[in-house]
Amino acid sequence: MAEKKLVEEITSMEEDFAKWYTDIVKKAELIEYTSVKGCMVIRPYGFAIWENIQKILDKMFKDTGHENVCMPMFIPESLLQKEKDHVEGFAPEVAWVTMGGNEILEDRLCVRPTSETLFCEHYANIVHSYRDLPKLYNQWVSVVRWEKTTRPFLRSREFLWQEGHTIHATAEEAVEETKRMLDLYADFCTESLAMPVIKGRKTENDKFAGAEATYAIEALMHDGKALQAGTSHYFGDGFAKAFDIMYTNKENKKVYPHQTSWGVTTRLIGAIIMTHGDDNGLVLPPAVAPIQAVIIPIAQHKQGVLEKCREIKAALENNFRIKLDDSDNSAGWKFSEYEMKGVPIRIEIGPKDIEAGQCVIVTRHNRQKETVPLVNITEMVSKKLQEVHCGLYQNALKNRENRIYFCTNTDEIIETLSKNGDGFVKAMWCGEEECEDGVKEKTGVGSRCILEEEKAAGKCVCCGKPAKHLVVWAKAY
Ligand SMILES: [Zn+2]
Repeated sequence: MAEKKLVEEITSMEEDFAKWYTDIVKKAELIEYTSVKGCMVIRPYGFAIWENIQKILDKMFKDTGHENVCMPMFIPESLLQKEKDHVEGFAPEVAWVTMGGNEILEDRLCVRPTSETLFCEHYANIVHSYRDLPKLYNQWVSVVRWEKTTRPFLRSREFLWQEGHTIHATAEEAVEETKRMLDLYADFCTESLAMPVIKGRKTENDKFAGAEATYAIEALMHDGKALQAGTSHYFGDGFAKAFDIMYTNKENKKVYPHQTSWGVTTRLIGAIIMTHGDDNGLVLPPAVAPIQAVIIPIAQHKQGVLEKCREIKAALENNFRIKLDDSDNSAGWKFSEYEMKGVPIRIEIGPKDIEAGQCVIVTRHNRQKETVPLVNITEMVSKKLQEVHCGLYQNALKNRENRIYFCTNTDEIIETLSKNGDGFVKAMWCGEEECEDGVKEKTGVGSRCILEEEKAAGKCVCCGKPAKHLVVWAKAY
């Protein structure tokens, strides 16, 4: 019988990081390309990761009082144009529907790049009194942005996301919501993705089109580049004014409400790959891994081996996502295959193990083996998964801490990065756009976010005038 080839080698990270990334998304069977340029098929294994992300986040949203809704995927041009900054920001990457059947549409429809305008139109219809507030809505949909260069999960023309849209009686409440959701995203990244993030505010130049303030979480990838992993925007009453949303307050006066929006996308899968992956493939954090433990029979043709494996599977599957691979591929092939797919732990069971009442557990992130008794296998698997999560988080944190550099002028940035490789540069900024652009032109790193909780002191890294903010700078995806 022809056995499937051993898992092919992937390009090493050191050799070519971009190629390493593409190899993983293909060979771990996360995506496949399609005839629609810039759009991909998310294959079952990749989609299962997204479903796990969804499940956890959706519960967090609901636990904080949010409800799911579903808006149309089309936005009439007339509606999109109501908020000036918003339309200017999105116009260059909008896809248009100009025909309906054989008829030319009078008001052409854009395929939603984001849904603020639809939510605003809806709020104008349903919000009239202070008793109607707040509305805490979210939707899980796909959006379209006509990107010129695309990469699986990181930048594609259509991608999946969730977009939260809330409307509140007061600015204070809306600001609180904006920060609450930023914190929620940061907690999710830490607790479920084992990925440390930095929280901060975007500069004026970099904020969302139509927002008063944009907050973001930024993670550092293996190659030293930053990845924006989630955003939370405070709109003030700008959208309410543009869309004529008003409510009657307790003093019986008509006033404008305040809004927020916030989102994360399938980009998070790209972030997982580039935070935890290694030269053997994907490494998945247990909370979102489609398979948390794979059972691999050793010498499975021997009497009693498969039976025991099935018994172990039955004992574990109430608590964990378990797969038993009883295919006729060799054990060696299976080891490489599930390493490539990033399964957090593998359980090996052979005739000798059965005799001794034990099994071997191997943790994916450090490939450490341990022989454990079968009697308390459930507790052992639980403990091992916890170990993988902590190990991944600690490694990612260490990698990030080693790549944070404090710099006081642009020459120092250039020198530090060429000596140590890319990373997060912490440096002071005067607040002028000219200096923000200047840093980017001179050094190649752009502003990622302003660290609002850390005090600014000293001089601007670019012009030398007194600094207003401490900023994290980096090259970014
Ligand atoms: Zn300056």
